[in-house]
Amino acid sequence: MEPDRREAERAGLCATCQYDRIVRSDRGSVFHQCQRAATDPSFPQYPNLPVLHCRGYELKSGGQASNTSGQK
Ligand code: SF4
Repeated sequence: MEPDRREAERAGLCATCQYDRIVRSDRGSVFHQCQRAATDPSFPQYPNLPVLHCRGYELKSGGQASNTSGQK
């Protein structure tokens, strides 16, 4: 499986959400930071992945909707 696709499946909705910010550690680990958390504390800054349902999800421009159902 391609690394990008694997990462998208690991992150779930966050991978295609406009509020997602990818943070890479010095050791190469990848974290998904939710930008909504900065203004709304009900969102976790670092959500548990994969995020399968989220009331704050908005598709980022140019992105393809996350597909966690296995359909193409
Ligand atoms: S709003 Fe939801 S889907 Fe979007 S980055 Fe935050 S936790 Fe992920």
